[in-house]
Amino acid sequence: MPVEEALERLLALAEAAPIGDTEEVALADAEGRVLARELVAKLDLPPWPNSAMDGYALRLADWQGEALPVSQRIFAGHAPQPLQPGTCARIFTGAPLPQGADCVEMQENAEVLEDGRVRFLEPLAVDQNVRPKGQETRAGEQVMSAGTRLGPIQLGLAATLGFARLDVVRRPRVAVLSTGDELVEPGLPLGPGQIYNSNRRLLVSWLQRLGCEVVDAGILADDLERTRQCLAGLGNVDLILSTGGVSVGEADYLGLALREAGELALWKLAIKPGKPLTFGHYQGVPVIGLPGNPASTLVTFGLLARPYLLRRQGVAAVAPLRFSVPAGFDWPKPGNRREYLRARIEDGQVRIYKNQSSGVLRSAAWAEGVVEVREGSTPRQGELVPFIPFSELLG
Ligand code: AMP
Ligand code: MG
Repeated sequence: MPVEEALERLLALAEAAPIGDTEEVALADAEGRVLARELVAKLDLPPWPNSAMDGYALRLADWQGEALPVSQRIFAGHAPQPLQPGTCARIFTGAPLPQGADCVEMQENAEVLEDGRVRFLEPLAVDQNVRPKGQETRAGEQVMSAGTRLGPIQLGLAATLGFARLDVVRRPRVAVLSTGDELVEPGLPLGPGQIYNSNRRLLVSWLQRLGCEVVDAGILADDLERTRQCLAGLGNVDLILSTGGVSVGEADYLGLALREAGELALWKLAIKPGKPLTFGHYQGVPVIGLPGNPASTLVTFGLLARPYLLRRQGVAAVAPLRFSVPAGFDWPKPGNRREYLRARIEDGQVRIYKNQSSGVLRSAAWAEGVVEVREGSTPRQGELVPFIPFSELLG
């Protein structure tokens, strides 16, 4: 199954199972959440015309070029008096323009005479250095649509409009399970044939960045009865996310248990690293089974499960930005799967890690993102290739 098709199917499944619940949270708690309702400005921004400079406000229509006396000083945060005809007002950045003024000259272009009057040294124009009322936003305008992910910029924007609380989508509850008799948690000694569980940490911390509430189901032994029990005990979650144990190997008990108690589709993805990906349901709860090799887990989560989870929260823009960068490598052998090579940019070229084995997570730690090499393509040194930075995928 081509990667695009898998993504399309997953997004359609996500749209069919939206996280419908919403809650109201304080701005301080809204980081990483998804806006549940469009945000409509309740005020004009700025609410009144104000000065973009430290300088002098005057009314050009009444001015013949003469030096003007200063009739008031207006600081930011203070209400001005209407401008007295035949005068100017000392004004500071962000201070409201006095009624009647239509121009601000910056102080660098003004000369204060001995008698206190101000002479303007440069030609002046109406509206110069004036930020008009509503120039950024008008009351009633939609400033963010439902489905917007709230990061520092969006929260800053909500704050400029005075919103203290926002309606957001409930955090998706995601159960993470790692399968495999070989797995041991870091901190414990390794027995013969055992390896440390890396996927659990990778996914739990990644899911937290994506605003999910994680139900950490730990390590699931390769045993059918225990697998049944584990699934039955997961409780109320929106997604079961597992790694390993879902290909066609003899120890793939998760697949067996899902076939018994739910439904399961095994997708053979044209993706490398990756390939086997499971989508199914267990008692109505969607299950995504990612391949167990850590680099495969990384790539399939980033490119498929992440957009799925975002779309379930109503996020429209789930595709990561990608950039065309000259290849700093030769890829002479066309593949029949789309490869995501762990890569970093050096001297304006994208270089790939020497060992692209799906078991090597170190490749990704060295890298800054992945290069996409399409099926059948043979990019050469200097040719443009698509590069997706991890920063696009991890948040
Ligand atoms: P499986 O799909 O269960 O056959 O796993 C494929 C490969 O990924 C095997 O080499 C596993 O040992 C490895 N693997 C599976 N789960 C994890 C995990 N949580 N952490 C590290 N390696 C894993
Ligand atoms: Mg296994």
